[in-house]
Amino acid sequence: MTTVAAYAAPAAKAPLERTTIERRAVREFDVLIDIKFAGICHSDIHQVQEGWGEAIFPMVPGHEIAGIVSEVGPGVTRYKVGDRVGVGCMVDSCRECDNCKAGQEQYCVKGNVQTYNGIGKDGEPTYGGYSQKIVVDENFVVRIPDGLSLDVAAPLLCAGITLYSPLKRWNAGPGKKVAILGMGGLGHMGVKIAHALGAEVTVLSQSLRKKDDGLRLGADHYYATSDPKTFQELQATFDLIVSTVSAPLDFNAYLTLLKAEGVLVNVGAPEEPISLNLFSVIGGGKTLAGSMIGGIPETQEMLDFCAAHGIGSEIELIEASEVNTAYERVQSSDVRYRFVIDTATI
Ligand SMILES: [Zn+2]
Ligand SMILES: [Zn+2]
Repeated sequence: MTTVAAYAAPAAKAPLERTTIERRAVREFDVLIDIKFAGICHSDIHQVQEGWGEAIFPMVPGHEIAGIVSEVGPGVTRYKVGDRVGVGCMVDSCRECDNCKAGQEQYCVKGNVQTYNGIGKDGEPTYGGYSQKIVVDENFVVRIPDGLSLDVAAPLLCAGITLYSPLKRWNAGPGKKVAILGMGGLGHMGVKIAHALGAEVTVLSQSLRKKDDGLRLGADHYYATSDPKTFQELQATFDLIVSTVSAPLDFNAYLTLLKAEGVLVNVGAPEEPISLNLFSVIGGGKTLAGSMIGGIPETQEMLDFCAAHGIGSEIELIEASEVNTAYERVQSSDVRYRFVIDTATI
Protein backbone atom coordinates (compact mmCIF):
# COMPACT_ATOMS: atom_id res chain seq x y z
CA MET A 1 0.00 0.00 0.00
CA THR A 2 1.10 3.54 -0.77
CA THR A 3 -0.19 6.68 0.92
CA VAL A 4 -1.06 9.29 -1.69
CA ALA A 5 -2.11 12.95 -1.48
CA ALA A 6 -5.60 13.59 -2.88
CA TYR A 7 -8.51 15.98 -2.94
CA ALA A 8 -11.72 14.48 -1.59
CA ALA A 9 -15.27 15.38 -0.68
CA PRO A 10 -15.68 14.04 2.88
CA ALA A 11 -19.48 13.90 2.57
CA ALA A 12 -22.24 14.58 0.05
CA LYS A 13 -22.34 18.22 -1.08
CA ALA A 14 -19.31 19.09 1.10
CA PRO A 15 -16.45 21.14 -0.35
CA LEU A 16 -13.44 19.14 -1.48
CA GLU A 17 -10.38 19.24 0.79
CA ARG A 18 -6.83 17.94 0.76
CA THR A 19 -6.40 14.52 2.34
CA THR A 20 -4.51 11.27 1.85
CA ILE A 21 -5.71 7.91 0.52
CA GLU A 22 -4.18 4.44 0.26
CA ARG A 23 -3.43 2.92 -3.12
CA ARG A 24 -3.12 -0.87 -3.32
CA ALA A 25 0.25 -2.52 -3.93
CA VAL A 26 0.82 -3.27 -7.62
CA ARG A 27 -0.61 -6.70 -8.48
CA GLU A 28 0.40 -9.00 -11.34
CA PHE A 29 -1.36 -7.10 -14.14
CA ASP A 30 -1.38 -3.62 -12.56
CA VAL A 31 0.42 -0.46 -13.51
CA LEU A 32 1.17 2.34 -11.05
CA ILE A 33 0.62 5.72 -12.68
CA ASP A 34 2.04 9.04 -11.49
CA ILE A 35 -0.91 11.27 -12.30
CA LYS A 36 0.10 14.56 -13.90
CA PHE A 37 -3.26 16.05 -14.86
CA ALA A 38 -6.91 15.37 -14.04
CA GLY A 39 -9.84 16.95 -15.86
CA ILE A 40 -12.98 18.15 -14.08
CA CYS A 41 -16.05 16.57 -15.65
CA HIS A 42 -19.58 17.79 -14.89
CA SER A 43 -20.37 14.26 -13.69
CA ASP A 44 -17.79 14.72 -10.89
CA ILE A 45 -20.01 17.46 -9.53
CA HIS A 46 -23.22 15.42 -9.97
CA GLN A 47 -21.69 12.59 -7.96
CA VAL A 48 -20.24 14.75 -5.17
CA GLN A 49 -23.72 16.23 -4.81
CA GLU A 50 -25.43 12.80 -5.00
CA GLY A 51 -27.45 14.10 -7.92
CA TRP A 52 -27.45 10.60 -9.44
CA GLY A 53 -28.28 8.76 -6.20
CA GLU A 54 -26.45 7.61 -3.11
CA ALA A 55 -22.67 7.80 -3.42
CA ILE A 56 -19.59 6.56 -1.54
CA PHE A 57 -17.70 9.00 0.72
CA PRO A 58 -15.06 10.17 1.13
CA MET A 59 -15.05 10.63 -2.66
CA VAL A 60 -11.98 11.40 -4.75
CA PRO A 61 -13.51 12.35 -8.12
CA GLY A 62 -11.73 12.41 -11.46
CA HIS A 63 -12.04 10.15 -14.51
CA GLU A 64 -10.02 12.15 -16.99
CA ILE A 65 -6.55 11.05 -15.95
CA ALA A 66 -3.23 11.53 -17.74
CA GLY A 67 0.13 10.51 -16.32
CA ILE A 68 3.32 8.45 -16.53
CA VAL A 69 3.78 4.79 -15.64
CA SER A 70 6.13 4.48 -12.66
CA GLU A 71 5.87 0.76 -11.84
CA VAL A 72 4.45 -2.35 -13.53
CA GLY A 73 3.39 -5.75 -12.16
CA PRO A 74 5.25 -8.90 -13.27
CA GLY A 75 2.50 -9.94 -15.71
CA VAL A 76 2.18 -6.58 -17.47
CA THR A 77 3.00 -6.73 -21.19
CA ARG A 78 1.47 -3.58 -22.67
CA TYR A 79 3.25 -0.87 -20.69
CA LYS A 80 6.63 -0.11 -19.21
CA VAL A 81 7.98 2.47 -16.77
CA GLY A 82 8.02 5.92 -18.40
CA ASP A 83 5.07 5.34 -20.76
CA ARG A 84 2.53 8.15 -21.19
CA VAL A 85 -0.89 6.79 -20.34
CA GLY A 86 -4.48 7.69 -19.56
CA VAL A 87 -7.37 6.29 -17.54
CA GLY A 88 -10.99 7.18 -18.21
CA CYS A 89 -14.30 6.34 -16.58
CA MET A 90 -13.76 2.60 -15.95
CA VAL A 91 -11.04 0.59 -14.20
CA ASP A 92 -12.52 -2.91 -14.55
CA SER A 93 -15.48 -4.92 -15.85
CA CYS A 94 -16.63 -8.57 -15.85
CA ARG A 95 -14.57 -9.22 -19.02
CA GLU A 96 -16.80 -12.22 -19.84
CA CYS A 97 -20.10 -10.88 -21.16
CA ASP A 98 -20.74 -10.33 -24.87
CA ASN A 99 -20.25 -6.57 -24.52
CA CYS A 100 -16.93 -6.90 -22.69
CA LYS A 101 -15.70 -9.44 -25.25
CA ALA A 102 -16.66 -7.00 -28.00
CA GLY A 103 -14.58 -4.24 -26.39
CA GLN A 104 -17.71 -2.42 -25.21
CA GLU A 105 -16.85 -2.58 -21.52
CA GLN A 106 -18.92 0.55 -20.87
CA TYR A 107 -22.00 -1.60 -21.49
CA CYS A 108 -20.85 -4.56 -19.36
CA VAL A 109 -24.05 -6.42 -18.44
CA LYS A 110 -22.78 -6.92 -14.88
CA GLY A 111 -21.80 -3.27 -14.62
CA ASN A 112 -18.26 -2.00 -15.02
CA VAL A 113 -16.17 -0.74 -12.09
CA GLN A 114 -16.20 3.05 -12.14
CA THR A 115 -12.88 4.85 -11.69
CA TYR A 116 -14.26 6.49 -8.54
CA ASN A 117 -17.45 6.16 -6.51
CA GLY A 118 -17.31 2.44 -7.37
CA ILE A 119 -16.41 -0.82 -5.64
CA GLY A 120 -13.60 -2.89 -7.16
CA LYS A 121 -13.67 -6.67 -7.45
CA ASP A 122 -11.54 -6.72 -4.27
CA GLY A 123 -14.43 -5.07 -2.41
CA GLU A 124 -12.54 -1.82 -1.89
CA PRO A 125 -13.92 1.59 -2.92
CA THR A 126 -12.31 3.20 -5.96
CA TYR A 127 -10.77 6.67 -5.84
CA GLY A 128 -10.27 8.82 -8.91
CA GLY A 129 -7.85 11.22 -10.50
CA TYR A 130 -7.75 14.16 -8.11
CA SER A 131 -4.73 12.43 -6.55
CA GLN A 132 -1.05 11.95 -7.22
CA LYS A 133 -1.00 8.24 -8.07
CA ILE A 134 -3.41 5.51 -9.15
CA VAL A 135 -3.08 1.74 -9.59
CA VAL A 136 -5.03 0.27 -12.53
CA ASP A 137 -5.13 -3.07 -14.34
CA GLU A 138 -3.29 -2.67 -17.65
CA ASN A 139 -6.39 -3.70 -19.61
CA PHE A 140 -8.10 -0.48 -18.53
CA VAL A 141 -5.16 1.78 -19.32
CA VAL A 142 -4.72 3.50 -22.69
CA ARG A 143 -1.65 4.99 -24.32
CA ILE A 144 -1.37 8.74 -24.89
CA PRO A 145 0.57 9.25 -28.14
CA ASP A 146 3.73 11.38 -27.98
CA GLY A 147 2.27 14.19 -30.08
CA LEU A 148 -0.41 14.94 -27.50
CA SER A 149 0.40 17.03 -24.41
CA LEU A 150 -0.80 15.35 -21.24
CA ASP A 151 -2.74 18.37 -19.98
CA VAL A 152 -4.93 18.74 -23.08
CA ALA A 153 -5.16 14.95 -23.44
CA ALA A 154 -6.69 14.39 -19.99
CA PRO A 155 -10.24 15.56 -20.92
CA LEU A 156 -10.21 13.29 -23.97
CA LEU A 157 -10.55 10.32 -21.62
CA CYS A 158 -14.18 11.21 -20.92
CA ALA A 159 -15.30 14.21 -22.99
CA GLY A 160 -13.33 13.12 -26.06
CA ILE A 161 -14.53 9.53 -26.22
CA THR A 162 -18.10 10.53 -25.32
CA LEU A 163 -18.27 12.49 -28.60
CA TYR A 164 -15.98 10.36 -30.75
CA SER A 165 -17.94 7.15 -30.25
CA PRO A 166 -21.37 8.37 -31.48
CA LEU A 167 -19.83 10.43 -34.29
CA LYS A 168 -18.09 7.29 -35.59
CA ARG A 169 -21.04 4.98 -35.00
CA TRP A 170 -23.42 7.26 -36.92
CA ASN A 171 -20.93 7.91 -39.75
CA ALA A 172 -20.00 11.55 -39.33
CA GLY A 173 -17.70 12.25 -42.28
CA PRO A 174 -17.43 13.85 -45.71
CA GLY A 175 -20.78 14.76 -47.23
CA LYS A 176 -22.57 14.56 -43.85
CA LYS A 177 -24.15 17.49 -42.07
CA VAL A 178 -23.60 17.18 -38.35
CA ALA A 179 -24.98 19.43 -35.61
CA ILE A 180 -23.44 19.61 -32.17
CA LEU A 181 -26.02 20.74 -29.65
CA GLY A 182 -24.37 22.60 -26.76
CA MET A 183 -20.97 24.31 -26.79
CA GLY A 184 -19.42 23.25 -23.49
CA GLY A 185 -16.86 20.71 -22.31
CA LEU A 186 -18.46 17.94 -24.38
CA GLY A 187 -19.71 20.07 -27.27
CA HIS A 188 -16.39 21.73 -28.06
CA MET A 189 -14.82 18.27 -28.41
CA GLY A 190 -17.65 17.29 -30.74
CA VAL A 191 -16.92 20.29 -32.96
CA LYS A 192 -13.22 19.45 -33.21
CA ILE A 193 -13.71 15.73 -33.82
CA ALA A 194 -16.61 16.04 -36.28
CA HIS A 195 -14.60 18.62 -38.25
CA ALA A 196 -11.54 16.34 -38.30
CA LEU A 197 -13.74 13.47 -39.52
CA GLY A 198 -14.62 15.64 -42.52
CA ALA A 199 -18.24 16.47 -41.71
CA GLU A 200 -19.89 19.85 -42.26
CA VAL A 201 -20.35 21.01 -38.68
CA THR A 202 -23.00 23.28 -37.20
CA VAL A 203 -23.10 24.37 -33.57
CA LEU A 204 -26.53 24.83 -32.04
CA SER A 205 -26.02 26.82 -28.86
CA GLN A 206 -28.39 28.78 -26.66
CA SER A 207 -26.79 32.08 -27.68
CA LEU A 208 -24.09 33.34 -30.04
CA ARG A 209 -21.81 34.12 -27.07
CA LYS A 210 -19.25 31.45 -28.01
CA LYS A 211 -19.62 31.78 -31.79
CA ASP A 212 -16.03 32.94 -32.41
CA ASP A 213 -14.69 29.95 -30.48
CA GLY A 214 -16.97 27.55 -32.32
CA LEU A 215 -15.83 28.73 -35.72
CA ARG A 216 -12.19 28.76 -34.62
CA LEU A 217 -12.45 25.15 -33.39
CA GLY A 218 -13.84 23.88 -36.68
CA ALA A 219 -17.56 24.67 -36.98
CA ASP A 220 -18.81 25.80 -40.40
CA HIS A 221 -22.02 27.35 -39.03
CA TYR A 222 -23.26 28.58 -35.68
CA TYR A 223 -26.87 29.18 -34.69
CA ALA A 224 -28.64 30.34 -31.53
CA THR A 225 -31.41 27.99 -30.40
CA SER A 226 -33.01 30.88 -28.50
CA ASP A 227 -33.90 32.38 -31.91
CA PRO A 228 -37.09 30.78 -33.29
CA LYS A 229 -35.92 31.53 -36.85
CA THR A 230 -33.16 28.92 -36.36
CA PHE A 231 -35.76 26.15 -36.33
CA GLN A 232 -37.43 27.39 -39.52
CA GLU A 233 -34.17 27.90 -41.36
CA LEU A 234 -32.62 24.55 -40.43
CA GLN A 235 -35.64 22.29 -40.94
CA ALA A 236 -34.68 18.89 -42.46
CA THR A 237 -30.98 19.85 -42.61
CA PHE A 238 -28.94 17.37 -40.60
CA ASP A 239 -27.91 13.75 -41.00
CA LEU A 240 -26.86 13.65 -37.37
CA ILE A 241 -27.40 15.76 -34.27
CA VAL A 242 -25.40 15.00 -31.13
CA SER A 243 -26.98 16.53 -28.04
CA THR A 244 -24.62 17.25 -25.16
CA VAL A 245 -27.29 19.16 -23.26
CA SER A 246 -28.40 17.99 -19.83
CA ALA A 247 -31.16 20.59 -19.40
CA PRO A 248 -34.73 19.79 -20.52
CA LEU A 249 -35.06 19.99 -24.33
CA ASP A 250 -37.99 20.13 -26.75
CA PHE A 251 -37.07 16.93 -28.59
CA ASN A 252 -39.99 17.30 -30.99
CA ALA A 253 -38.53 20.60 -32.21
CA TYR A 254 -34.99 19.24 -32.61
CA LEU A 255 -36.20 16.16 -34.49
CA THR A 256 -37.64 18.48 -37.19
CA LEU A 257 -34.06 19.55 -37.94
CA LEU A 258 -33.14 16.04 -39.13
CA LYS A 259 -33.32 14.85 -42.70
CA ALA A 260 -35.31 11.66 -43.36
CA GLU A 261 -33.63 8.73 -41.58
CA GLY A 262 -31.48 11.14 -39.60
CA VAL A 263 -30.30 10.42 -36.07
CA LEU A 264 -30.47 12.48 -32.89
CA VAL A 265 -28.13 10.92 -30.36
CA ASN A 266 -27.97 11.95 -26.72
CA VAL A 267 -24.85 11.98 -24.63
CA GLY A 268 -26.21 14.57 -22.20
CA ALA A 269 -28.84 13.38 -19.75
CA PRO A 270 -31.67 15.64 -18.61
CA GLU A 271 -32.72 14.58 -15.09
CA GLU A 272 -36.44 14.55 -15.88
CA PRO A 273 -38.17 12.15 -18.34
CA ILE A 274 -38.78 13.73 -21.73
CA SER A 275 -42.05 14.36 -23.51
CA LEU A 276 -41.99 12.96 -27.04
CA ASN A 277 -44.65 12.89 -29.71
CA LEU A 278 -43.81 9.65 -31.53
CA PHE A 279 -44.90 11.16 -34.82
CA SER A 280 -41.66 13.16 -34.51
CA VAL A 281 -39.70 9.97 -35.26
CA ILE A 282 -42.31 8.08 -37.33
CA GLY A 283 -42.50 10.82 -39.93
CA GLY A 284 -39.15 10.68 -41.74
CA GLY A 285 -38.12 7.36 -40.19
CA LYS A 286 -35.87 9.08 -37.68
CA THR A 287 -33.84 7.61 -34.85
CA LEU A 288 -33.59 8.94 -31.31
CA ALA A 289 -30.52 7.28 -29.80
CA GLY A 290 -28.16 7.32 -26.84
CA SER A 291 -24.47 6.73 -26.27
CA MET A 292 -22.25 6.45 -23.18
CA ILE A 293 -18.48 7.04 -23.32
CA GLY A 294 -16.82 4.23 -25.36
CA GLY A 295 -15.00 0.95 -24.85
CA ILE A 296 -11.28 0.63 -24.16
CA PRO A 297 -10.26 -0.24 -27.77
CA GLU A 298 -12.26 2.68 -29.14
CA THR A 299 -10.80 5.00 -26.50
CA GLN A 300 -7.34 4.09 -27.78
CA GLU A 301 -8.51 4.64 -31.36
CA MET A 302 -9.84 8.08 -30.36
CA LEU A 303 -6.52 9.08 -28.74
CA ASP A 304 -4.60 7.99 -31.84
CA PHE A 305 -7.05 9.92 -34.04
CA CYS A 306 -6.76 13.05 -31.89
CA ALA A 307 -2.96 12.88 -31.95
CA ALA A 308 -2.94 12.44 -35.74
CA HIS A 309 -5.20 15.49 -36.14
CA GLY A 310 -3.59 17.65 -33.44
CA ILE A 311 -6.73 17.64 -31.32
CA GLY A 312 -6.63 18.32 -27.60
CA SER A 313 -9.21 19.82 -25.29
CA GLU A 314 -9.36 23.59 -24.74
CA ILE A 315 -8.44 23.85 -21.09
CA GLU A 316 -8.03 26.15 -18.11
CA LEU A 317 -5.24 24.69 -15.99
CA ILE A 318 -5.82 25.16 -12.26
CA GLU A 319 -4.18 24.35 -8.95
CA ALA A 320 -5.88 21.77 -6.77
CA SER A 321 -6.82 24.40 -4.17
CA GLU A 322 -9.03 26.07 -6.81
CA VAL A 323 -11.21 23.01 -7.31
CA ASN A 324 -14.23 24.23 -5.31
CA THR A 325 -14.28 27.53 -7.21
CA ALA A 326 -13.94 25.59 -10.44
CA TYR A 327 -17.00 23.51 -9.51
CA GLU A 328 -19.04 26.69 -9.06
CA ARG A 329 -17.85 28.00 -12.40
CA VAL A 330 -18.67 24.73 -14.20
CA GLN A 331 -22.19 24.94 -12.82
CA SER A 332 -22.62 28.41 -14.27
CA SER A 333 -21.06 27.34 -17.62
CA ASP A 334 -18.15 29.70 -16.96
CA VAL A 335 -15.28 27.62 -18.33
CA ARG A 336 -13.63 27.51 -21.74
CA TYR A 337 -13.88 24.59 -22.02
CA ARG A 338 -12.52 22.17 -19.44
CA PHE A 339 -10.82 22.72 -16.09
CA VAL A 340 -7.76 20.53 -15.63
CA ILE A 341 -6.04 20.12 -12.27
CA ASP A 342 -2.24 20.17 -12.20
CA THR A 343 -1.90 17.33 -9.71
CA ALA A 344 1.59 18.46 -8.68
CA THR A 345 -0.26 21.15 -6.68
CA ILE A 346 -2.25 18.67 -4.53
ZN1 LIG B 1 -16.94 12.46 -17.37
ZN1 LIG C 1 -19.01 -7.55 -18.93
